[in-house]
Amino acid sequence: MADQYDAVVVGAGATGGWAAKQLTEAGLRVLLLEAGSDIPLSEFASAPAMPGLASRQHIQRTLRRSYSATTRNLFVDDVSNPYTTPPERPFFWIRGQQVGGRSLMWNGMTIRFSDYEFKPSRFDGYGPDWPIKYSDIAGYYDLVETFLRVHGSYENLPQAPDGRFITPIPFTEGEECVKQLVESRWSDRRVVAARGVRRIQPLGSGDEWPSFTAQGSTLEAARRTGRLTVRANALASRIELDPRGHRARRVIAIDKMAGGSEFAVETKFVILCASTIETTRLLLNSEIGNGSVLGRFLMDHVNCYISGVAPALAGKPLQGGLAGSVGGFIPNFRHGDSRPRGFIRGYQVKIVVQRALGESRNFRMEECPFFFSACGEMLPREYNRVSVDARTQDAYGVPIPHIDCKMSANEERLAVDALEFMSEIADGGGFVVREEGPLNALGLMVHEVGTARMGADPETSVVNHLNQCWEVPNVFVTDGSCFVTSGWQNPTLTMMALTVRACDFIGRRLKPDDWLGA
Ligand SMILES: Cc1cc2nc3c(=O)[nH]c(=O)nc-3n(C[C@H](O)[C@H](O)[C@H](O)COP(=O)(O)OP(=O)(O)OC[C@H]3O[C@@H](n4cnc5c(N)ncnc54)[C@H](O)[C@@H]3O)c2cc1C
Repeated sequence: MADQYDAVVVGAGATGGWAAKQLTEAGLRVLLLEAGSDIPLSEFASAPAMPGLASRQHIQRTLRRSYSATTRNLFVDDVSNPYTTPPERPFFWIRGQQVGGRSLMWNGMTIRFSDYEFKPSRFDGYGPDWPIKYSDIAGYYDLVETFLRVHGSYENLPQAPDGRFITPIPFTEGEECVKQLVESRWSDRRVVAARGVRRIQPLGSGDEWPSFTAQGSTLEAARRTGRLTVRANALASRIELDPRGHRARRVIAIDKMAGGSEFAVETKFVILCASTIETTRLLLNSEIGNGSVLGRFLMDHVNCYISGVAPALAGKPLQGGLAGSVGGFIPNFRHGDSRPRGFIRGYQVKIVVQRALGESRNFRMEECPFFFSACGEMLPREYNRVSVDARTQDAYGVPIPHIDCKMSANEERLAVDALEFMSEIADGGGFVVREEGPLNALGLMVHEVGTARMGADPETSVVNHLNQCWEVPNVFVTDGSCFVTSGWQNPTLTMMALTVRACDFIGRRLKPDDWLGA
């Protein structure tokens, strides 16, 4: 006999935690399947020495800004978790496989999308648009921000809508200087306080899970309902449909601690929160959505940066670290710019001055470091694709993803523009640039989205405006795979808000019994 639950959520990371919270609070009995282990707080706070792990992380360790001896246990072992790419087009797929997923490593920056991202064709004629508009999701952004306690300042900018903020973290003197410089030189640009949750450094130094992790926020709330069961080391391998192929009936998973044996769970709803590429792998392996554009339109973000020192501020005390809601950012200003530039869409620039920048940056304590980093939109292209080949499998016999993705000339030109702009700010402030990072390799922004996109037409999308699979409406895809455009904003807040919205729909407007026996 298979176990029975009202809903099975696949993936216990940043979005899976929200699905678990929303559904259990609505009264559903939820099973959360997580491929990785349930690490204790002590392992999060201080990484155990895992002999040989670093040598098995040839992809993870390329994420210089966050991968270190103290965090490496949160990143996957690349040898045991294979995927393929064309040799000439690498994609650096950065993953966390444990309860909490990458919520244990994320920097916590949260910026809302606006209708410039949901309805881009209205502004530059280039589609597709999302089937939802900003006002459809605004209330769910409110809910997520309130629960997570997002810092930010009220600015009334149409391209970066204000949220439900608690007080912003103050600028340093150096950041204040950049704000004055930028706003006096360019009337269309603003330096605003970073938006996001507060991260503590070093990771997890207290005796409770910090609130930026799923364990310290959403999962804790879901557990309090008494209706959540978490099953770790359980890799969902496929979804089985009813005989007519209209409804998901069971989720089949592999128990990694029991020699890779399979088990089945019966359910009324399946919510896929396994992260963009894993969710698409599961859909492909389940042959759901195959007739559509499933796997196509993979996107990451364009990233380039400059860093160095600000001689005029040498000797000033450094305040806090780089991660989280510190410093400022310049919201995209290219959306209203009709001058021909050889690219469409735009980017944000993160501004951090006079803060400790982490072990990988090259400065002495008496110097005043700065770091400017651009995060820009990547356009959806049909040829950027995730696929599976039944002949190439992981250790459990599950076909692995093949990722074939490249930047286009639009992204390259956008990166050139962003680097020029950041260099102009540095020149204007008398800053000395020591390191310049041109266009990043794909994957390294860790903002992968697309491949099971939303839409108004089943021919050109995988899920509808409520994240329901067109073909199998009791399967919901709510992580980044449902994204239609990548925007210039860090994506996780939008993934979370979409997850809450879809689960709110399940919990409040659908009666689970409607699906029984269908
Ligand atoms: C260093 C770093 C900094 C970042 N900073 C930011 C930031 O500031 N702002 C921002 O917006 N984003 C940031 N991100 C990205 C952010 O972490 C991700 O967008 C977010 O975690 C995605 O949420 P998710 O739930 O889709 O996936 P994850 O959080 O990765 O969780 C997915 C979970 O699903 C599990 N899983 C996968 N497949 C299966 C399966 N078949 N069966 C069972 N379980 C499965 C995985 O093991 C994992 O635990 C950052 C990422 C990193 C690594």
